[in-house]
Amino acid sequence: MTDVKHYKVIIIGSGPAGLTAAIYTARAELKPLILEGNQPGGQLTITTDVENFPGFPEGIMGPKLMEDMRAQAVRFGAEAKFESVTEADLSGKPFKIVSDSDHYTADAVIIATGASARWLEIESEKKYMGKGVSACATCDGFFYKEKDIVVVGGGDSALEEATFLTKFGKKVTVIHRRDEFRASKIMVQKAKNNPKIEFALNKVIDEIVGDQFVTGVKLKDTKTGEITEMKADGVFMAIGHIPNTQIFKDKIDMDQNGYIKTIPGTTKTNIKGVFACGDVQDHIYRQAVTAAGSGCMAALDTEKFLGEEY
Ligand code: NAP
Repeated sequence: MTDVKHYKVIIIGSGPAGLTAAIYTARAELKPLILEGNQPGGQLTITTDVENFPGFPEGIMGPKLMEDMRAQAVRFGAEAKFESVTEADLSGKPFKIVSDSDHYTADAVIIATGASARWLEIESEKKYMGKGVSACATCDGFFYKEKDIVVVGGGDSALEEATFLTKFGKKVTVIHRRDEFRASKIMVQKAKNNPKIEFALNKVIDEIVGDQFVTGVKLKDTKTGEITEMKADGVFMAIGHIPNTQIFKDKIDMDQNGYIKTIPGTTKTNIKGVFACGDVQDHIYRQAVTAAGSGCMAALDTEKFLGEEY
């Protein structure tokens, strides 16, 4: 074990929330440490064009946006380390953070570990990632104007995304593994009333097919096992997200889905000095710009806390 290094602020996670928190805390001269995790830059690094982040009229590539945010944080004195947190002891001050290669203590901790889209975990899904397969209708829907789109899932996200995608697509088919929906009745009714939405129920995707890009899906009937093929240019997964909170289990208040609870209107958690921002505490908006906004809030809440406590 190396010497334990102390920081005023440790930020766990390096998506838009973590990096915005870093820019603000660095500019407040708190010299934050960012522990970037195993996917530096977060979910935006697996998207291509980002066209809805304000300030980029021509759009910007997701990885480039994140690289620039990181450079901006570092320019003001943030230290970024390509390390993943393996343990967090938030039971007393200073907070103790262990990464895969070092030990740290901190007066304040900002949790910005995000959430990961749930995937089907089939080979063809990986093959066509970014080439017709997406988990973000808001990000990528625009690229499927007048195309055939399928959305996988039967929850509120799937029906909301399907409804949203009808703005672009010629036809949107919701593929759901059951014939009953987890989604609220009102969402189901809205989707059923939409003439552009069709349903393929009791079906799961067996394989995504294509050439360079997706051209269709092979569907397996969950009751009969029958395989059919459907034409599709875009396949949107909406089978839920998993908040990246495993290391904080039983250490901080979370909701039943594992999202960290914050006091409404703030980024404060139930532990004084520990703040949460971005998708790890938001299962509703989940946008880069809302994550960045809450990262700014976390930095300001942290600065105020440190000013009062130390
Ligand atoms: P969710 O409610 O957990 O629904 C996930 C859906 O994906 C379920 O229908 C599930 O099927 C299906 N699914 C899961 N794993 C699958 C797999 N491996 N293969 C095929 N299908 C699979 O997730 P969500 O829709 O993202 O919603 C998350 C939370 O956010 C919910 O509380 C929701 O109400 C909320 N939300 C609210 C709004 C809104 O109010 N405007 C919008 C979006 C989300 P089964 O049903 O068979 O399990």
